[in-house]
Amino acid sequence: MTAASTGDLVASGEGVVAFNVITLEHAEGILLGAVRAGRPVVLQVSENAIRYHSGGAPLLSACAALVATHDATASMHLDHVVDQALLDLAVPVLGVSSVMYDGSELPYAENVERTQQLTRMLHDRGLWVEAELGAIGGKGGAHAPGVRTDPGEAADFVAATGVDALAVAVGSTHAMTEQTATLDCDLITRLAAAVPVPLVLHGSSGVPVAQLKEARAAGIRKVNVGTALNVAFTTEVRASLDADTKLTDPRKYLSRARDAVADVVEELLTAL
Ligand SMILES: [Zn+2]
Repeated sequence: MTAASTGDLVASGEGVVAFNVITLEHAEGILLGAVRAGRPVVLQVSENAIRYHSGGAPLLSACAALVATHDATASMHLDHVVDQALLDLAVPVLGVSSVMYDGSELPYAENVERTQQLTRMLHDRGLWVEAELGAIGGKGGAHAPGVRTDPGEAADFVAATGVDALAVAVGSTHAMTEQTATLDCDLITRLAAAVPVPLVLHGSSGVPVAQLKEARAAGIRKVNVGTALNVAFTTEVRASLDADTKLTDPRKYLSRARDAVADVVEELLTAL
């Protein structure tokens, strides 16, 4: 049995990297990369991926089955969940040990109220809860360019909601395909001093590895990576199909894409 809980992995001192799963090949590649690096990982499934896969239960069940028999140590996490109905998938029976509820686009007071309610409900199920805080008013969410999390407000938010971890806006942006973001590591240090729970960095694909290391040193304990896997995956599929226009068996190009995902995961886990 190699299933772990996200809370334990985040608390393990060095922190953890969470990788987004879209296809089964992503999950297989992530676990393979983790084994090669000798590090645990979080398999993270976003609300968008849940919607893409027939409501999510089939994908989560497949991930749980993979984790249960794999040499890798991994936990399962639901990411950026907003829809109340989808929170029903956040149950240990589907292998999920943690949830990120994203109220960052709500006005501050509403984000606090909603996050507090959901945290209580999810804690009753034994789940670890991550939430997100961007700018006051939350316009455009926490990862719109220029948005920064205020340390004082972050401390108040955590105290009011009882969350187990906080995703903060410190310079990264979702869906970046090149590593050109600049993190505000001084702000991370101030947030880590002000906030009593682990800090989470989203949009890490756009951050150079050297800065991810600095962010870890400054207090980031969970690093979320999605786009970098998709860049590797799709580049490999495109190259395979371009190289052989008669290729039709998906296993031929998806296996290469899966290997490319494993390579990115191994490289990043080793570097961090
Ligand atoms: Zn995110």
